[in-house]
Amino acid sequence: MRIDVLGVGFDNLTMDEAVAEGLRLTESQGTHYVVTPNPEIVELCRENLAAKIAVNEADLVLADGIGVVKGAAMLGTPLKDRVPGIEFAAGLMAGLAANRKTLYLLGAKPGVAQQAAQRLQATYPGLVIAGTHDGYFKDDAAVAEEIRKTGADVVFVCLGAPKQELWMKKFGPATGAHLLCGLGGSLDVFAGVVERAPKFWSDHGLEWFYRLCREPRRIGRMMKLPLFLVHVQQEKRKK
Ligand code: UDP
Repeated sequence: MRIDVLGVGFDNLTMDEAVAEGLRLTESQGTHYVVTPNPEIVELCRENLAAKIAVNEADLVLADGIGVVKGAAMLGTPLKDRVPGIEFAAGLMAGLAANRKTLYLLGAKPGVAQQAAQRLQATYPGLVIAGTHDGYFKDDAAVAEEIRKTGADVVFVCLGAPKQELWMKKFGPATGAHLLCGLGGSLDVFAGVVERAPKFWSDHGLEWFYRLCREPRRIGRMMKLPLFLVHVQQEKRKK
């Protein structure tokens, strides 16, 4: 049973439950994918039907950020917790390292995924990176085939939304991986190119404000957050 927030159905899981479910999917037959929508992506799904379908068809839909958790609570259907994509990825990598599963990193500017691979292998001893590819390519099928040849069990797809969600839905099976995870700008963080907000800010639900101060050009995208809250209020009145 998923919790609906403005047309996107979220799995009601804690971080530990989400990681356990992700690891279970790496063991099961077929190809699966995980999405981590924040309010900005929920707003995008309201305007882009293909994105909405790709998000809702994911095997795991995790509430990335406090905004979605607040929205669900305002609608009277609370979620247990937020499950930030980057922390989910961290938990998953610890499990992959322990289980000797292999990981492919796809996305970000040239060089970033390789740098992330080096840092992640140092952070998670035993983690095997099957390969990397930057996120600025034209031939999708060729990239999917390149991943398939590495035999990777899991792929982190970091192309920004909704590109990564559409890519996972369409090309996921061709990669042969058991699990793909759409993780936005995570490779930039893993590579050390972009810093995450200090704990104080995220603990107070203000990570968005920290990022805005660091990257003022994000203002247009961030205006989606108040818009999301307005839409939640409207939805609440309908109930
Ligand atoms: N990106 C990419 N290919 C593209 C467009 C974007 O690989 O065609 C990458 C971009 O370099 C960045 C990530 O996708 O690493 C998106 O980052 P953003 O900060 O937008 O993601 P968020 O975490 O905010 O969703």
